[in-house]
Amino acid sequence: MILIIDGHDYHYEMESLCDIFLPYEKVTVVYGNRTNFQEYTEEILAYTGYVEQDGKAHLTAALQFDGKQSETQGDCLLDTPDFERRCGLEMALLLYRLLVSACSYEPKWGVLIGVRPIKLLRRLREEMGEQQAIDYFRKDLLVSEEKTALSVRTMRHEQQILSLSRPDSFSLYVSIPFCPTRCAYCSFVAQTLQQTARLVPRYVELLCEELACTAQVAKELGLRLESVYIGGGTPTTLSAEQMAQLLDTITETFDMSTCREFTVEAGRPDTVTPEKLDVMKGRGVDRISINPQTLNDTVLKAIGRGHTTAQTFDAFALARQHGFTHINMDVIAGLPADTFPSFSSTIDRLLQLSPESITVHTLSLKRSSRLNQNGQIQVFHDADLAGQMLGYSQQALTDSGYLPYYLYRQSRMVGNLENTGWSKPGYESFYNVFIMDETHTIFACGAGAVSKIKDPYSNQLERIFNFKYPHEYESRFSEMLERKEKAKHIFLRYLKNSQSL
Ligand code: SF4
Repeated sequence: MILIIDGHDYHYEMESLCDIFLPYEKVTVVYGNRTNFQEYTEEILAYTGYVEQDGKAHLTAALQFDGKQSETQGDCLLDTPDFERRCGLEMALLLYRLLVSACSYEPKWGVLIGVRPIKLLRRLREEMGEQQAIDYFRKDLLVSEEKTALSVRTMRHEQQILSLSRPDSFSLYVSIPFCPTRCAYCSFVAQTLQQTARLVPRYVELLCEELACTAQVAKELGLRLESVYIGGGTPTTLSAEQMAQLLDTITETFDMSTCREFTVEAGRPDTVTPEKLDVMKGRGVDRISINPQTLNDTVLKAIGRGHTTAQTFDAFALARQHGFTHINMDVIAGLPADTFPSFSSTIDRLLQLSPESITVHTLSLKRSSRLNQNGQIQVFHDADLAGQMLGYSQQALTDSGYLPYYLYRQSRMVGNLENTGWSKPGYESFYNVFIMDETHTIFACGAGAVSKIKDPYSNQLERIFNFKYPHEYESRFSEMLERKEKAKHIFLRYLKNSQSL
């Protein structure tokens, strides 16, 4: 598809909208004047144009889709307060309406394209008060009543966690980018153990070195650790000995006395063993995540998860036997071969297990995933089905006493829906809330990890990227340590700036 951008800077918003409606299309952005669509051979063409005249920005959106052309216009007064935002929204609405009409499909999140709707809602509440923020979601952004209500519940609920963060707070993320096999929907940089088993011991050694360096930086900055999250990949692909080496390094180098939560993502149930659970329990891990994604073996096969439903139940029982009193379980709505009865049965059976938290994801159609390349998802049909699945989970979880405590969206999700973390009261994950809200600095270690250095007194935030792949991480490791020093200087600069204000 060709998207022509004429005279404005809203290309990101326009492209994101096209992605929502046409996730399989590669959108090529062209900058230029209004051109006759016939000059292009592509079947789908969109145009958005901006011209200033008589104190107004005149906006045009046009679309060629399925052999038909449509066009619409709007305007925005140049002296409108908050002109940039208003004008961008007006332009988005014009294109949105054309796409809704052409595709006969209305996304439940309206024109909202960001990944952090709750953060946006909170900011709007601060600016205009809660009721007006809600009205803005409904009337300006065209967010459905259902998603607005879910956002409000989540915002109110996560407030208690956010209020625990202090200017000197930070959290720690540790990346284990290895998995037993690669799931068909995966777009992460995780490597299968088959390809990379020989890299793991050295990787763990270097990771421990980076952690020790990070602990030193945190100490020098006088920061206080709030939460630790070991994710991936599948951290439990490490052997019990490697896990012990990693956890010992964390607990010996960081001051854990203030840490509210220590999570290890056990991801694949087939990687959970009594030895690894012993190691984790013995070193203070108090939250683990066992992720079935579905409790339907046919669906598990279709997505190449390489484990069975029985293994999920076994891993869960084993974790309980080892004294884990906070277990999270992830499921995904919209998986290929899944049906409404199968998904609702997954939710019902999970509720019978009664984990402390359940995260309901929506399948994301990343371009690099095998699923997307095989074209196994039918966008609009599956959007409706995924919507029904989320609706069911929302009702069932609410009825069982779970509350939504964090919510985020990704690009290219089936139906442009969302991921929601639900928990029993008192079992919210601190880390999930802090990372999604960008509340405080997150130091991240390991391949593919991204540190976010946050100004404690403003919304300023700088990202520092580690190398993506384990082999790069290993061969250019000294740069990783240099980047931790850089993180320290960024934080010190923030402090200095705040003092000079
Ligand atoms: S377990 Fe997660 S990270 Fe690993 S291959 Fe599957 S989706 Fe990707």
